[in-house]
Amino acid sequence: MISDNGLYLHQAQIGPMDNFVYILADLKTRKCAVVDPAWDVDYFLTHIKAQNFELEAIFLTHGHGDHINGVEDILKFKNVPVYLSSKCLYHPPSYAKVHYTDDIPETDDTVEPSKTDNKKNTYNTVPLGNLELTVIPTPGHSPGGQCFLYKKTLISGDTVFVNGCGHCRLEGASVSLLYDAIQLIKTLDDDIIIYPGHDYGPTGTDTIGKQKKTNPYFTNNFAKFTQMRKA
Ligand SMILES: [Zn+2]
Repeated sequence: MISDNGLYLHQAQIGPMDNFVYILADLKTRKCAVVDPAWDVDYFLTHIKAQNFELEAIFLTHGHGDHINGVEDILKFKNVPVYLSSKCLYHPPSYAKVHYTDDIPETDDTVEPSKTDNKKNTYNTVPLGNLELTVIPTPGHSPGGQCFLYKKTLISGDTVFVNGCGHCRLEGASVSLLYDAIQLIKTLDDDIIIYPGHDYGPTGTDTIGKQKKTNPYFTNNFAKFTQMRKA
């Protein structure tokens, strides 16, 4: 368990594809969300109950099957809102309360790092108890790809792995958009910790600063990136 300024985070490596599923909670209100529920819904529900959390949302980093195959079972347990990008190719069941993260009215929240001041990016947020997580659209691996940022915690889905990044083999993927998404992540603070969608690296997490040194896909050479990603 990791706690970042009132945010609880539990990283669980689950399933045949080494997925990382996350339980996030606001420690004050004990409201929680599951990010990319897949493979073992009983595990999440048991964990949530043991922590005395109240499930209030599902957050999706993208819609690939290995990240969403537990959504329906969770909704059967409790029909909580599902937050995803409107560009996501996955559609939750018709009874689901879908919230498109790109439809949420824009707020004044900007990503904090001073390095982004010149850009003044404005992002939508999603609620978690009394906390707000910033949604950073990161299409590329999939058209509806997005990351969730809170303080020094970045849930990066399949956009960035430790020493890697998502592939571009499935419908709607774009090598150039993935390149742009990773360049955007590089503008965030170096001490932000990446929590990826798969356990494919030597460690389960790493900081953006360290990844700048060891992740070949953090290159600012687009031709090289394209060559690597198409290989
Ligand atoms: Zn994926």
